[in-house]
Amino acid sequence: MSSNSWETKTMGRFTLRFRPYTLEMRHVFTVASFSRTTTPVVLTEIEYEGLIGYGEASMPPYLGESQESVCDFLRQVDLSHFSSPFATDEILHYIDVLQEKNTAAKAALDIALHDLLGKIMQQPYYKIWGLNPDRIPPTSYTIGIDSEEMIRKKVKEAEQFKILKVKLGLDTDKMIIETIRSVTDVPLCADVNQGWKNKEEALEMAHWLYERNVVFLEQPMPKEMIDENAWLTAYSPIPTIADEGCQRLIDVPKLKDVYTGINIKLMKCTGMREAKQMAELARSLEMKVMLGCMTETSCAISAAAQLAPLVDWADLDGALLIGNDIYDGMTVHNGLCILPDRPGIGVIKNT
Ligand code: MG
Repeated sequence: MSSNSWETKTMGRFTLRFRPYTLEMRHVFTVASFSRTTTPVVLTEIEYEGLIGYGEASMPPYLGESQESVCDFLRQVDLSHFSSPFATDEILHYIDVLQEKNTAAKAALDIALHDLLGKIMQQPYYKIWGLNPDRIPPTSYTIGIDSEEMIRKKVKEAEQFKILKVKLGLDTDKMIIETIRSVTDVPLCADVNQGWKNKEEALEMAHWLYERNVVFLEQPMPKEMIDENAWLTAYSPIPTIADEGCQRLIDVPKLKDVYTGINIKLMKCTGMREAKQMAELARSLEMKVMLGCMTETSCAISAAAQLAPLVDWADLDGALLIGNDIYDGMTVHNGLCILPDRPGIGVIKNT
């Protein structure tokens, strides 16, 4: 089998197809812990009675999954004992307990199943959920860690966005913010990716950033520094958001009072179903909710966008950062996320 061909598995009334695919980044992408130019994904399809649902797993290397581990997981799945995709609850429970972790592999199946269900019901998933697409916050666009000149260039290219996200956490934080501020005064959100190690310095930076219209701080310190993150949250003039420190539904109540809010990503939490539960639980705990993504095609991005009306901040730029998207789905106009009016997650193959 060549590494990029479709593998097909028929199980009763369901057919599962999957294949590895490599996303090419438009710019070298640098955050506090690494740089990279490609992201491995696995594309999935679930077919049932002639309709096909699309899904995707994205595996940035630091999260422990790979194309091999996702394909191995998918090979183990057996849907033959389910007679209908409407047994959603049971199907997704079966997938979740099949093996622990493997959250991106599980998300690929969850997304394909939701897309399929929407196509059977002939409605976009946000409508099935009763959500108003006009409530989607403008998406942020990420500026990676870079030289002054490249930052200026990237910020100018990003002039349609109403909010930018910056990656901090190295020793260039103030240079990055000052460089961006020499070009634009749009609100910024700052993702430190656990890069700060000292709570007093983190608080000083939080004040410095607040004065420069930074609206929140994502994962300021390592996730293990629970007391320090809680202390920072108590004194910070801007909200703190857990990203690396928040994976799944079970984490959410433990993060109340450690952070102001959480960053939900489909690849961390096994997909659309659990992501929606997390958003609702966080809301009920009076926590803020951000919806993020990995580098992904328009498939996984459009899946996440179905629940974007529920969140305070959207960071759904993953498909904009790649040069070889193979789907059309959610688009961005003047910084606003536009959901297609197509059923399911609303994507079509862009051939
Ligand atoms: Mg983050």
